[in-house]
Amino acid sequence: MPRAKARRFIRINEPIIERDDIEAVTEVLESGILTDKMGMGPYVTKFEQEFAKFVGTKYAIATNSGTSALLAALSALGIKQGDEVILPSFAFVAAAEAVVWTGATPVFADIDLSTYTIDPDSIKECITPNTKAIIVVHLYGMPADMDPIMEIAEEHGLYVIEDAAQAHGAKYKGKVVGSIGHVGCFSFYATKIITTGEGGMVVTNDKELADKIFAIRNHGETSPYRSFYLGLNLRMTEIQAALGLSQLRKIRKFLKKRRENARKLTKEIGGMAPIIVPVVPKDRKHSWYVYTIRIRTRSGKVRDKIVQKLKEKGIDARVYYSRPIHLMPYYTVYKTKPLRKTKLATKQVICLPVHPRVEDRDIKYMAESVKKLVRKYV
Ligand SMILES: *Cc1c(COP(=O)(O)O)cnc(C)c1O
Repeated sequence: MPRAKARRFIRINEPIIERDDIEAVTEVLESGILTDKMGMGPYVTKFEQEFAKFVGTKYAIATNSGTSALLAALSALGIKQGDEVILPSFAFVAAAEAVVWTGATPVFADIDLSTYTIDPDSIKECITPNTKAIIVVHLYGMPADMDPIMEIAEEHGLYVIEDAAQAHGAKYKGKVVGSIGHVGCFSFYATKIITTGEGGMVVTNDKELADKIFAIRNHGETSPYRSFYLGLNLRMTEIQAALGLSQLRKIRKFLKKRRENARKLTKEIGGMAPIIVPVVPKDRKHSWYVYTIRIRTRSGKVRDKIVQKLKEKGIDARVYYSRPIHLMPYYTVYKTKPLRKTKLATKQVICLPVHPRVEDRDIKYMAESVKKLVRKYV
């Protein structure tokens, strides 16, 4: 029977661009000043100040992507050839590639399956005399277990870099992620919690480090035509910063809606044995970049079938991430211990949308669809 109205495709994430965002960008375009003061124009500076306030750090340095933020942070920390950096393999590739670009060696650790974030015990097993830093990824918006990680880092004299690209506004023991380690990195890519199209931010409380990152962002210059560090052009435009500022004004509203959606989805989808729903530890606040369930099956094929069927039903389910970084062709040269929990996660996870444009009827529809498919195929 033909349906009266075709169901719209429920995208995994989408930029939320409203009238005020458009006006903010238009204002910059009409001013004619699209970039200013070598990346230190008024909109960029204001965005940095407001973002630092939001995260609770003294400094914030805007960049042209989250990947740039990671590269600038690692470079400013002096990470270089011969150094080792420990990071999760079950994550987006950006942190690993930033490590490799500095000349250092990525060492891949396993995850904790209940949070999908780096496992502190696995970090310990990866430490050698060459270890210089740990990159923590707050995956899906779930804060990693920072206390034991900071303890390990302190004991071994290591830097901690937080990859908070999916976790704007997530909290661990009352602290906003990105402010807990030595340096935090964010992304404003089009699908992220807030967006500038492309863009990123580094945050830190360390003045010396902040100054160095400001310099690296603009060709390593500490004054005009005096490159003191190896730099790059990692500058954000005034256009992006204006959009970032207008998005930042709405971030609490966005996060509230994501949290409500996640709570509703758990209520609808939870309680069916082969489906493992996300559980947020009491000491954390999730930012729900995506809502990730795990299907209790040893076969990635069954999971893939369910994802394919969900897509056919108009639900943009995704597998973040079906291939761990250490098994990507470029990264197989890096010796990696067996990562049992990473392997299981890559075969079992399904990410579902809970962004602010997801409505109650979408949640009911997604829950019903997942449960039906699990009954059929698992
Ligand atoms: C998006 C993302 C990045 C990279 O950010 P870009 O702005 O796309 O360069 C890094 N790490 C994680 C976990 C991400 O999700």
